[in-house]
Amino acid sequence: MAERTFYNEVLTDHNLHPDNKYQLKDPNKVKEGVNPSCGDDIVLQLKYVDGVIEEASFVGEGCAISQASADIMINLVLGKKKEEALHLSDIFLRMIKGEATDEEIEELEEGGALQDISHMPARVKCAVLGWRTLNEILNEE
Ligand code: ZN
Repeated sequence: MAERTFYNEVLTDHNLHPDNKYQLKDPNKVKEGVNPSCGDDIVLQLKYVDGVIEEASFVGEGCAISQASADIMINLVLGKKKEEALHLSDIFLRMIKGEATDEEIEELEEGGALQDISHMPARVKCAVLGWRTLNEILNEE
């Protein structure tokens, strides 16, 4: 029950007061991520310099899960190197499949609030949209 409350609070907070939802000034990496099954449509914007995510933001529309997940993701990967960001992404994607350990999920901080999505197959694509889009950008080079 406590976990359920945490999940709702995190989702609500990131939707009402997103930290990272704005147009980035002069991004050098931009990628759209679309989840047609729900109608989620985000554009991830990075200032990516020498293998480090110096700045990041997103714009777009979608359900509460897609928006909160993208916002939390950016909090986690800001200032991180490519390898560190991919490491967190790997944990997140495995968490959503129910395959991450508790210790790994702790590395995701607030992202851990989304672990129950693994029991909601219809929402999986919403939760992973931001992370999949980030992976595509980081694996482009
Ligand atoms: Zn969605």
